[in-house]
Amino acid sequence: MARMFISGESVDSITGATQEVRNPANGEMVDTVPRGNAEDVRRAVDAAEAAFDEWSHTSAEERAHLLFKAAEAVKAEMKNLSTLLTSEQGKPLQEASTEIEHFLHGLKFYAELASKVRGAQVPLPAKNAYGMVVRKPLGVCGAIVPWNFPITLMGTKVGPALAAGNTVVVKPASTTPLTSIRIIELMNQAGLPKGVLSIVTGPGGVVGEELISNAKVRRIAFTGESGTGKHVAAVACADFKRVTLELGGSDPMIVCDDADIQKALTGAMVGRFWNAGQACLAVKRLFVFDKVYDEFVSGLVSKVSRYEVGDGMTRPEKPKIRMGPLHTAEQREEIEAQVADAVDRGAKILLGGARPEGAQYEKGFFYLPTIIENVSDDARAMKEETFGPLLPVFRVGSLDEAIEGANKSIYGLGSSIWTKNLDNIETAIDRIQAGNVWVNSLHYGYDELPFGGVKASGFGREHGPEALDYYLEPKGIVITR
Ligand code: NDP
Repeated sequence: MARMFISGESVDSITGATQEVRNPANGEMVDTVPRGNAEDVRRAVDAAEAAFDEWSHTSAEERAHLLFKAAEAVKAEMKNLSTLLTSEQGKPLQEASTEIEHFLHGLKFYAELASKVRGAQVPLPAKNAYGMVVRKPLGVCGAIVPWNFPITLMGTKVGPALAAGNTVVVKPASTTPLTSIRIIELMNQAGLPKGVLSIVTGPGGVVGEELISNAKVRRIAFTGESGTGKHVAAVACADFKRVTLELGGSDPMIVCDDADIQKALTGAMVGRFWNAGQACLAVKRLFVFDKVYDEFVSGLVSKVSRYEVGDGMTRPEKPKIRMGPLHTAEQREEIEAQVADAVDRGAKILLGGARPEGAQYEKGFFYLPTIIENVSDDARAMKEETFGPLLPVFRVGSLDEAIEGANKSIYGLGSSIWTKNLDNIETAIDRIQAGNVWVNSLHYGYDELPFGGVKASGFGREHGPEALDYYLEPKGIVITR
């Protein structure tokens, strides 16, 4: 059995209760983890509070040094960690190792920034006086992480929080705790002082709930579903915690008639079907200009047909590429319901639209990569987030029409435009309601740039030097001689 890591040691839950983690590709049990409760969270929070003073006064250079050492320790176990991640999450091995590499890149990015935090000296109108702005860490931070990218999304919280001098308690998703536990154990063994970084496993309604309501926690970074995010914000704000919310998305991708079609095809394929489509920043609605629509859509159907669904532990024969199972049975049912709803309202299935057939698929949550067209505005696939391998495509006559369609969503996370025309690019950057616009680029969260949403996609930013701002409080100082 895997154990939680609290206050510098591996521990069971106080009650001794456990919960299972199952492999989405075959339903087999991968391991069990402690089923923590509020008391376990309080233990971790108390340890984080006790560790805060020393950690926040540790020199930034020393904090950076320990984060680099932690990254080295994780890197040394890359292969085992990737295998563990595939077995609990379902994504193909290559995607699992890419995810852990992204985590390491982020950790090192914030380690490098630890000693670059700047304040300010400010002239004041008062006589013989000047002001200063110093930037202080907040204290204990809670990091609540979903199952789709359990490691990178833990890193986007833990990296800036620790670099800035805060202490952290992580709550992983119940279905993907194993790789996170091992990484936190490795980071602690690499030298993080006791209590600086802990992880508590258990149900969101119990462990997460205590984390967001515990008065000693001063900040919550949450990634997950918009409905849960609303609840997290309401509870956490009640005692004035700082909160950032990275929620769902329904990213539009716009392909203009002058686009580099081959590059855009790759952008649409990888952008939608990476991680079996279970990504907040995935391409979820594709708008293609009329003039290139037929060529583009038939090219896309042929390209996406290269995917062979199967267990992420195995590779298919070239030129096939692997797409893993959906993460849970509910996740697959949701996609099936969205496809059925779209078809009922007149949509046409161009590819997929069903579970794959064969004995090897019976125990996993597999679903074929699916492309649909003629999707009506009132279809669920248009109005809701499609968190799986389902891509609705739309024919548009102009950029205005594409942007109008793009902005119909309640979400506003990412978006992309594929064109060589500078006017089109500037118009898209200006008018698409989203936290991110990629131009002729894959939807991807670079560590170097702020990432986050507008509208129902949440608020606050992760990634980029900007993320540090959410872990530091400006303190105004007046000095009079
Ligand atoms: P959920 O909101 O269900 O869960 C996210 C996390 O919150 C889990 O750790 C969960 O724990 C925990 N949680 C559940 N209930 C509570 C509660 N009452 N209090 C505190 N924590 C709680 O989301 P999903 O796991 O389904 O994740 C998928 C969603 O995340 C998608 O909508 C996706 O778009 C979004 N997402 C957004 C990203 C972004 O950057 N904007 C990035 C990645 C995903 P448990 O697992 O135990 O229930």
